Amino acid sequence: MEIPLDPSKTIAAVFLLAKCDMGCTFCASDLGIDRLGFGQACALMKGLWEAGYRILVLGGGEPALWRDGEKRLVDLAVFAKGLGFVVQINTNGIRLDEGFENWPGVDRFIFPMDGAGAARHDSLRVVLGSQPDGHYGLVQERVEACVRAGRGLTIGTVLTRKNKRELTGLIDWMRMRVKQGADIHAWHLYRFQAVGRGGTGASVELGLPSDEFKAICGKAKAAGLPFPVWRRDDMLRSSTVEYFWFQGGELQVGGQAQ
Ligand code: SF4
Repeated sequence: MEIPLDPSKTIAAVFLLAKCDMGCTFCASDLGIDRLGFGQACALMKGLWEAGYRILVLGGGEPALWRDGEKRLVDLAVFAKGLGFVVQINTNGIRLDEGFENWPGVDRFIFPMDGAGAARHDSLRVVLGSQPDGHYGLVQERVEACVRAGRGLTIGTVLTRKNKRELTGLIDWMRMRVKQGADIHAWHLYRFQAVGRGGTGASVELGLPSDEFKAICGKAKAAGLPFPVWRRDDMLRSSTVEYFWFQGGELQVGGQAQ
């Protein structure tokens, strides 16, 4: 598979499927993504490796919902690791199996933290089904499992009008987790965009002016955390990450359609 390469980009993010078990208020994910077959995903990962990418993010939708026959997400991670990638899983954590923290092939899990406590986080991160609350508590359990296993973590936060006052609490949470031994690799702060299955139509409710977003990120960067804090002005595009998915059977590269 021939992969176009932008030499300024070092990280390849692959969207495995559109399906998700959450209905986040700000979700920018596009429902038009194909679900990859195992062979298709492996061919794509091989192409990405040959094109020069060395860091891979497996995402969706929710990647833990991905399966193809007997194959599960962990099988994709093991294949990617066998090629030589640093492998990250970008997940909401709900459908990770027991013992996920010891999965072979995975270097880091990327978990969302959109509030310093359950009230704000769960108001933005809504679990589909009869029990919409509880995601904050679940993320804490997943993080604790990773800390016990010495598994690396990355944290992502979508900054909106509704959680902008959570920053100090989130910084305290990061410090507390580091003190407990968490191997936090980075904290990504994304600016909400009114696109995708959740974000479309939510700009009045959730939108944050660019200057305010930058100021909040500046405070987070100045907090002296022992890992990088990244400001992500555009959650669909990045100067260091290239995105890959299939739509209608065709490989798509770059920012998602808006
Ligand atoms: S933002 Fe929420 S709804 Fe969208 S893919 Fe991620 S977990 Fe699912």
